[in-house]
Amino acid sequence: MHDRTSHDRDSDAPGRSGPLRLGMFGGTFDPPHVGHLVTAVNVRHALALDAVVLMVANVPWQKEGTRTITPALDRLAMVEAAVRDVDGLQAGRHEIDLGGPSFTADTLAVLGEEFPDAELFTIVGDDAAAGLPTWERSGDVVTRSRMVVVDRPGQAVELSGDVDWIHVEVPHLDVSSTDLRARIVDGRPLDYLVTAPVLRVIEERGLYREEANAHPAGAETLGAPE
Ligand code: ATP
Ligand code: MG
Repeated sequence: MHDRTSHDRDSDAPGRSGPLRLGMFGGTFDPPHVGHLVTAVNVRHALALDAVVLMVANVPWQKEGTRTITPALDRLAMVEAAVRDVDGLQAGRHEIDLGGPSFTADTLAVLGEEFPDAELFTIVGDDAAAGLPTWERSGDVVTRSRMVVVDRPGQAVELSGDVDWIHVEVPHLDVSSTDLRARIVDGRPLDYLVTAPVLRVIEERGLYREEANAHPAGAETLGAPE
């Protein structure tokens, strides 16, 4: 992470000084899709961030028990594939290394130790932003970082008025990991909704196949294959 960050500062912002500006974009990324990537690159650009880390949740505690979560290392491999050739985006494994349930307050503390002089920005879609008051030690999150929110398609949400939100306008892409998982189950294409390197990881690792096997494509309507 160090190398890429310093390289970006040299190449993208010649002569700029001041503290490192680091975006933290947390998620389950099950799988990572173009909505995540378009958000990350546009927030990075709008706020002149040196880098945005797509931080892979180890155990997304708010989602636990609601569905099967793909193993963290497989989700990390997909995020690494997604950001590999994108300037200024990085895959973060800090929450995986910390282990246990992932709390943004802890993640920011670790990033703060790694980059003591950095200015941290926590980036969230509006659905996640609306849930901020339910986050573990949300007060720490707000004091340790600037809060950045992007709108997602759909109903506008109510945000906590106590927080000095930075709104960044990004293209509204009606893509979600939930929809992508449903597509896999139905045998519908993922092309262009996830990038080709991510699709390759899904195929190579045979991810989401179990769900697909449990509901073979079109089985109810088409009958058994010959
Ligand atoms: P799921 O449907 O499984 O909840 P998701 O698509 O919402 O998946 P997450 O990993 O839950 O993806 O989200 C990580 C972060 O990315 C959250 O802050 C979420 O609001 C944001 N995000 C997800 N999809 C988009 C999108 N299409 N545009 C902007 N932000 C998004
Ligand atoms: Mg989500």
